[in-house]
Amino acid sequence: MKRTILVTGGTGYIGSHTCVALAEHGYDVVIVDNLSNSSSKVVDVIKQLSGQNITFHELDLTDTEALGEVFDAHPIEAVVHFAGLKAVGESVEKPLWYYQTNLVSTMNLLEQMEKHGVWDLVFSSSATVYGDPEQLPIPETASTGATNPYGQTKLMIENICKDVAASNPNWRLAMLRYFNPIGAHASGDLGEDPTGIPNNLVPFVMQVAVGRREKLNVFGDDWDTPDGTGVRDYIHVVDLAAGHLAALENLKEGWDAYNLGTGTGASVLEVVKTTELVTGKPVNYSIAPRRSGDIATSLADPTKANNELDWRADRNIRTMIVDAWNWQSKNPEGFGD
Ligand code: NAD
Ligand code: UDP
Repeated sequence: MKRTILVTGGTGYIGSHTCVALAEHGYDVVIVDNLSNSSSKVVDVIKQLSGQNITFHELDLTDTEALGEVFDAHPIEAVVHFAGLKAVGESVEKPLWYYQTNLVSTMNLLEQMEKHGVWDLVFSSSATVYGDPEQLPIPETASTGATNPYGQTKLMIENICKDVAASNPNWRLAMLRYFNPIGAHASGDLGEDPTGIPNNLVPFVMQVAVGRREKLNVFGDDWDTPDGTGVRDYIHVVDLAAGHLAALENLKEGWDAYNLGTGTGASVLEVVKTTELVTGKPVNYSIAPRRSGDIATSLADPTKANNELDWRADRNIRTMIVDAWNWQSKNPEGFGD
């Protein structure tokens, strides 16, 4: 019997790559997504790439009744929860919308899980829960603290999950703290398709390389880093997807948190140089003021996930950029919605 996994936010960037991995590994995948930040075309791409059928329900997680019907209709055994709003700047402008969407969605989900006796959850958390880190690389035991409403929702959801875990020993909840996911499926048919002006570095750089944007603003060259630009732990989205399978297959009683990163950093200028080498195109940039709320360096200590989940992120920054470019050049307008 195939295990049925409910994937919330499964048509989104990380969710879609994880659905491919789940379907390829013999899971029955049921997606719920309100398509607020993704395309329904993704469903067919997941089917094509995995060679498996999957089920899609368009719904908003804040709609408890509709969510309950999905649990009634499928023999769901575990949930991977990606759905949520994720733009830091927007969360500062519209904090209530972020708290409302991310918290209410998750509470509805946990309520329906409890009601239907589904106790296994893998949740998309973020390295943002470490705020401005006191130690590098960052272990899971580092102190947490959010610097914006988006980060607050991640911390609050982690804490809600902790309380839920303490209420009933059946619960098995894994918080996956992602570092900086980039790249795309090697086919070039699935990748990140941000609406409007990309907030994140690599989608922006790709759009400059493909000619959709004139130049990149590098947010500060006076950080305390080797070349003065911000350093991040970029992780290939396909490695990240594999991390979800590993977490699902190694869930243990109670609550736990895992860093998903490589442990290796790249600076903004290194990303620019790698993109120029891979694409053969110049990436114009100029140095701009620091972006508010940014930190110099973010770097994972992934030892716990390596050991306890038997998982490792192997793909290097070059492969990440090669795959991101393959996706971008094959689909200059993304999914074109
Ligand atoms: P994404 O926006 O591509 O995917 C999220 C999906 O959730 C979208 O398809 C969107 O339509 C859906 N969604 C949003 N609100 C919903 C709601 N109320 N009901 C139903 N569906 C809803 O984002 P992503 O980059 O794939 O991120 C997935 C998760 O990982 C998010 O929770 C995000 O906060 C977290 N995360 C992302 C990053 C990153 O850099 N991409 C880093 C750390 C953590
Ligand atoms: N960055 C930049 N220009 C951009 C977007 C990002 O210089 O247009 C820098 C940013 O200051 C940070 C790094 O690139 O040092 C990664 O930023 P991103 O937003 O992708 O990830 P996060 O800051 O959330 O880790």
